[in-house]
Amino acid sequence: MNCPYCGYPDSKVIDSRDVNEGIRRRRQCLNCGSRFTTYERLQPASLFVIKKDERREEFNRNKLLTGIHKACEKRPLPTGTVDKLVDDIEAELYHLGKAEIPSTVIGDMVMNRLKSLDHVAYIRFASVYREFTDITTLKQEVDTLLSAEAEASQSASQLPLLPTEPSAGLAKSHRRSRQ
Ligand SMILES: [Zn+2]
Repeated sequence: MNCPYCGYPDSKVIDSRDVNEGIRRRRQCLNCGSRFTTYERLQPASLFVIKKDERREEFNRNKLLTGIHKACEKRPLPTGTVDKLVDDIEAELYHLGKAEIPSTVIGDMVMNRLKSLDHVAYIRFASVYREFTDITTLKQEVDTLLSAEAEASQSASQLPLLPTEPSAGLAKSHRRSRQ
């Protein structure tokens, strides 16, 4: 820490005490004798996201939350679902113990979770994240989902992507009718 008055790089510590979760040090410049204070705090390990254009950006939980909220807007998901999803992803990211994570890894984590949660939210997220530029790509993704949905129709945890019968708006009666 250079002296804020003369820029000299050396100072001596004349007082040191614990404050909150850090250390406050009173210092005196060895060149001009001016006194100043420094604080030392433990920095929580930060996580950086490597974007598609190679730029680094600090991981932003709120940004992730907003993106997923948008995709899940007006979907019949229990309150707190999105927050829990983001909690899970955040925990997994920190658990990886890496300082930098490609944005594609995070995007895939979101996609995998949305896919098993709600297909409409999945398609919405995918259309932004994968930057679907034409309706054909979008249709391909929907077709893939629909065929997977048909194969796994016995799974009661999945909400139907499209109603297959007039009363299908009610997921419960829809499910019952398939058994
Ligand atoms: Zn100085």
